[in-house]
Amino acid sequence: MKLNWFSSAVLACVISAPALADVVKFEQVTDNVYAFIGEIDDRTKANLGLNANIGLVVTDAGAVIIDTGAGPRSAEAIAKAAKKITDQKIVAVFNTGSQDHRWLGNDYFAQQGATIYAMDTTVATQQNMLDSILNRIMAVDDIFRDQTPVHASEPLTGKHASITIGGTTFEVKYFNDAHFPGDVVIWLPQSEVLFSGDHVYVDRLLGVHPHTHAVKWLDAFEQMIQLPAKYIVPGHGAVSDKAKVQAETGDYLKQLVEAIKEVQENFGALDEVTPSRDWSQFQHLRHFDGWHGRNVSNTFMRLEME
Ligand SMILES: [Zn+2]
Repeated sequence: MKLNWFSSAVLACVISAPALADVVKFEQVTDNVYAFIGEIDDRTKANLGLNANIGLVVTDAGAVIIDTGAGPRSAEAIAKAAKKITDQKIVAVFNTGSQDHRWLGNDYFAQQGATIYAMDTTVATQQNMLDSILNRIMAVDDIFRDQTPVHASEPLTGKHASITIGGTTFEVKYFNDAHFPGDVVIWLPQSEVLFSGDHVYVDRLLGVHPHTHAVKWLDAFEQMIQLPAKYIVPGHGAVSDKAKVQAETGDYLKQLVEAIKEVQENFGALDEVTPSRDWSQFQHLRHFDGWHGRNVSNTFMRLEME
């Protein structure tokens, strides 16, 4: 009896523990810099809400995580995956944005002693949109109901902030609102790696939500792409060079904004936007069929209000 109970308890651990650990796997980008490239489809219970990329930087003073996952379970999976790369304690985490998988794991890492770094613009959106952020992730599956939203206790101020941890410099840059208001990028000048957060989507089409201001996002993108980045870890999709990022995010945003402005200047209607341009260079991107129409209508309505 006792043995049976013990065996099934052990079996349960054997089954559930690897499942959690296997969701996140960090791949090397360059020396001491790693990225987990999440699926480019929707958030699910199986992917722990991690349909997005997460960064790991190993410094002389400890490990640093960029974006903390969609709640305590994803954070735990991130921490386990980091442990396979380094024995260093996770001493700091950064948030590049406000969508669930960018920051809802903050509490988990803070409890392990990590300092949370986020720009005040980002924290403002995390607070202003908290109800909708939580409702959206909780609707995915019951495993996301367990949430303790924690923000950076001393948000970074100004448009650019520089933090050095164990000899590695992390520059936090706010250019303009992007996928969410207040989104930032993290630039590592020493290794020429840019963690762009949701400023950049590759391999899949970016998404313009009703709260997204595509003109501001394009402005942010055009400033960001000036950074001399050798490797860009996007918000979604594979680690890329500047050319791919320009082609799959920058060129699309530019054409979207220009097409809509032109139609509106001529007092045209929403359904004239897509036929006014050739979109074939973006049609290979995953979710083009599902998202392009929404991107056009959300941007059209947003610009019409101004
Ligand atoms: Zn995203």
